Amino acid sequence: MKRLLPLLLAGSLSAQSLQLVVNLRSGAIVFQEDCGQLLDRSIPAGSLFKIFLAYAALAEGSDPARTVFCPPSSPTLPVRDNCWFRAGHRNQDLVQALANSCDRYFMTLAERVPIDAFVAFLDSLDLVVQIPDTDHNHEYTAGESMVGLNPHWRFPPLKLLAAVAWLVYGRCVPGGNSLPILEEKFRAPLRRGLREAAVYGTAQGFQEGMDFKVSGKTGTFVRVIPQLERSKLSGIFVGFFPDPEPEYCVLVFNAAGNGREQARAAGVRVRKLLAAGKIHIRR
Ligand SMILES: [Zn+2]
Repeated sequence: MKRLLPLLLAGSLSAQSLQLVVNLRSGAIVFQEDCGQLLDRSIPAGSLFKIFLAYAALAEGSDPARTVFCPPSSPTLPVRDNCWFRAGHRNQDLVQALANSCDRYFMTLAERVPIDAFVAFLDSLDLVVQIPDTDHNHEYTAGESMVGLNPHWRFPPLKLLAAVAWLVYGRCVPGGNSLPILEEKFRAPLRRGLREAAVYGTAQGFQEGMDFKVSGKTGTFVRVIPQLERSKLSGIFVGFFPDPEPEYCVLVFNAAGNGREQARAAGVRVRKLLAAGKIHIRR
């Protein structure tokens, strides 16, 4: 699915992948497979940013029930002016826009959030933006950066996972840095959005084959490989289970494959861990 942005990495993330499963009660990493030492590096957050932008907009007084119309668009037009879903999502409220990862909705939402306030919000969640907002081909607008279209906004995977878990569910994962007190009323639509993503949206692959409810958010990048003069899709997924009181969270990043595929891969990994008795769900 999603995210058509140029990741000008000169192929540096080729054949890189990472899977992490964390116990939200103990904070322990219960599974880790890191091909490429990604835990020590930074990865693009992509459309995971839409979760952060949603919270920041709610804190600015945005109404989650307000809808934005996402029209059909041509694949020849930039995603930033339209949506990755070229057929158009039609009318989207916040929960639907999170579930479908609607670019048009979030580009509209970004107009309501000052970039400085957004960067400060990320900083309060221990996600420090240190990278310049330009590359050789494109200068990224504040809106593009806030919806995850700027590939230079990268963070250590564990910090990214910790920030999402705290933002959406108020759960701490390893790291232990003090995080800001967040408004429960703003978290509620985020939780609904991530749940509905697993029901009908971009994260359905995480729900497939599970006998309990799950939630999650995907992101897809286009990684340009200049020496090959072509591009490949890369994807990221963060998921929680079981819903609505998650006991574990999972992060999957893969330089090959889109966000939907990473959601499916996360489901396969979780089912293997359950079958092997490595993790347990309280029924
Ligand atoms: Zn859309």
